[in-house]
Amino acid sequence: MECDKCSRDAVMHAGYSGAHLCEDHFCASVDKRVRRRIREDSMLPSDATPEDPETWVIGLSGGKDSVVLTHILDETFGKDPRIEMIALTIHEGIEGYRDKSVDACVELADDLDMRHELVTYEDEIGVKMDDVAEKDPMDMAPCAYCGVFRRDLLERFADEYGADKLLTGHNLDDEAETALMNFLEGDVKQVAKHFDASIGGFDDRNEQDDFIPRAKPLRDVPEKEVALYAHLKDLPAHITECPHASEAFRGEIQELMLKLEENHPGTRHSIMAGYEELAHLAAERYRGDGDDGEGPDLNECERCGSMTARDVCRKCKLVEAIEAV
Ligand code: SF4
Ligand code: ZN
Repeated sequence: MECDKCSRDAVMHAGYSGAHLCEDHFCASVDKRVRRRIREDSMLPSDATPEDPETWVIGLSGGKDSVVLTHILDETFGKDPRIEMIALTIHEGIEGYRDKSVDACVELADDLDMRHELVTYEDEIGVKMDDVAEKDPMDMAPCAYCGVFRRDLLERFADEYGADKLLTGHNLDDEAETALMNFLEGDVKQVAKHFDASIGGFDDRNEQDDFIPRAKPLRDVPEKEVALYAHLKDLPAHITECPHASEAFRGEIQELMLKLEENHPGTRHSIMAGYEELAHLAAERYRGDGDDGEGPDLNECERCGSMTARDVCRKCKLVEAIEAV
């Protein structure tokens, strides 16, 4: 099959758009989608100057998504004196898994000459995921603890580095899966929160000094295309599965989504288009609703100082339960 734009061999076919693209045109189309997303999410710094640049903290795990994100951000903004980028890697304390991906992060940051910071659950929270998975005091999946800890550290360190934005590598599949899970769980508040956290929510969030605006510039790019891009560009991505990966529900949704996408190409895109509109409405419904715990009634956690709607934040509660075992 030939590329739609030139006569070279196509390396990919996108069912949802019908496009066949060669290596160069495929990579250019990924770059273009990411840059468009950054523009449309109003991420470009409006009043930053070379003397007073913006700081962008990128969550870099060493997996293909965050590696591709970091690469494209560096290509696009690496020479822009108005933006300083810091790659932040979080080590969960998972034997034989995270060490290799940390190597990939170090290699990439070196290649790009980007500031790189590494923080660990063990140093910052006093737990390792391997121990958490074994103790499991709350009878939950390991990812349920891990997600809370990761979010806490990302926010805490982004804040410490003076981040104006916190960027993560969620791709289209991740986002469509999360959207579907929120629907199926009937969790409208989560939908609203998702909006505030990632979907054009910058303006609203900027009014609240306590939050660092989040962005997911890869959210228009399907997972397979992110993987192909990493491969074609020979990026140092680390691809193995975490031994504690256990989100059973997400696994089912993934299978369902693959089938839907195969039979009805474009399903992920249409889920996200509808979801964004609904999330908008949901965010309006819940914004300022102080009783829901997600409105403006936030205070500092008594133990760690993180912003929380309770006296003690979820992370501190989990740590307490783990330490009690
Ligand atoms: Fe943590 Fe789950 Fe990811 Fe493993 S798969 S790193 S336990 S969130
Ligand atoms: Zn706390």
